[in-house]
Amino acid sequence: MTATPASAAINSARLDDHLNALGQIGRDEFGMQRVAFSRQDVAGRDYVSTLMRGAGMSVRIDPAGNIIGRVEGTDPGVPAIVLGSHTDTVPSGGAYDGALGVIAAIEVVEALRDAGHTPRHPIEVMVFTNEEGTSFHRWLLGSRAVAGLWEPEDFAALDDDGVTLTDTLPNIGGNMSRVEAARRRPEEFACYFELHIEQGPTLHRGGFPIGVVTGITGRSVYHVDIVGEANHAGTTPMALRRDAMSAAAQIALAVRRIAGEMEVCRVGTVGSMDVHPNAGNVIPGRVQMGVEFRDERMESLAAAEVELRRTAEEVGHAEQVAIAVTAQRNTPSVPISGNMQQLVADASEMAGLEHVSLPSGAGHDAQAIAAITPAAMVFVPSVGGISHAPAEFSTPEDCANGAQVLLNAVLLADER
Ligand SMILES: [Zn+2]
Repeated sequence: MTATPASAAINSARLDDHLNALGQIGRDEFGMQRVAFSRQDVAGRDYVSTLMRGAGMSVRIDPAGNIIGRVEGTDPGVPAIVLGSHTDTVPSGGAYDGALGVIAAIEVVEALRDAGHTPRHPIEVMVFTNEEGTSFHRWLLGSRAVAGLWEPEDFAALDDDGVTLTDTLPNIGGNMSRVEAARRRPEEFACYFELHIEQGPTLHRGGFPIGVVTGITGRSVYHVDIVGEANHAGTTPMALRRDAMSAAAQIALAVRRIAGEMEVCRVGTVGSMDVHPNAGNVIPGRVQMGVEFRDERMESLAAAEVELRRTAEEVGHAEQVAIAVTAQRNTPSVPISGNMQQLVADASEMAGLEHVSLPSGAGHDAQAIAAITPAAMVFVPSVGGISHAPAEFSTPEDCANGAQVLLNAVLLADER
């Protein structure tokens, strides 16, 4: 049995004030517009940097543009407990995704200072660059740089206007020529915690204040190309058609069935479709579609692929069309260790809060940082399960609960 950690309490009014203030930066009538590297993003970053300094942290920007605030602990030479998330948003996004994790992390440092408690470990608060990946189509850019997970495409990234990432990084204080120096060694970190809104309906519907994240789901993406024969919509008898759209429709329903009734994997989506020639009076000769599956278990994703390919073969035969299924991307799932989940569960109990375990269907910086240090995530309810939209909302009480669990997790980790 370890000693009971010192108690410290989140100042919920201060947390709410800071969240609301950040939520005003880059807001317009359509939502939050703090797309990474934009003028609005820079303003948001300046605001949190100022908060960090006010909380007594030293603040630096690494070559990947990540903002790193740090307070020293009492024991020299021990690794840092790291808290992090992001302040960039999707276009017309919400005020809580990422923002809560950053503002709550700074509040943890302030609350510890208010309580007069200095942990043994240093605490680092990291604000990661371009988590959403809206800019340059490269997501988790900052956290992957910290974890040493950059790919050649990151170094060569171009945005939609043809501007290079190399030319853009200096806008936020980064420097491509030194970007490898953003990488941190596992010995520098004790562990990582990220508080985030759930972005789904489970906690809000179930009335649970806290979610203990069991893992971040993997995602497999496929390009399905269906080639039939374009022909006159009025003169071609039904029995003689090689209709690519008929086949596409069957595959779309099969994807829903694979994740739905069959429960092969957690979710499956056909999110895009290109129809050729896309004219009302022509039988479609070709349809290209994007299919994705997500699950925490890679075996389930593999099973979904088998089912997708089997369906494609069956439908292709029945509809007399050629169907090619090409695997495009496979993002592995990231499990969270039992120890780290237990730590978050204990931190919830310390705060007297009920908790439930659930996977994360969305990607987060934690999945990159997990490559170099034990990582855990705390979820709080999203009202109505709405996210990446202006109506995204988590109540001040739920935000404060999440911040208290984050603080308790730091105290427990500091003792263990
Ligand atoms: Zn996020």
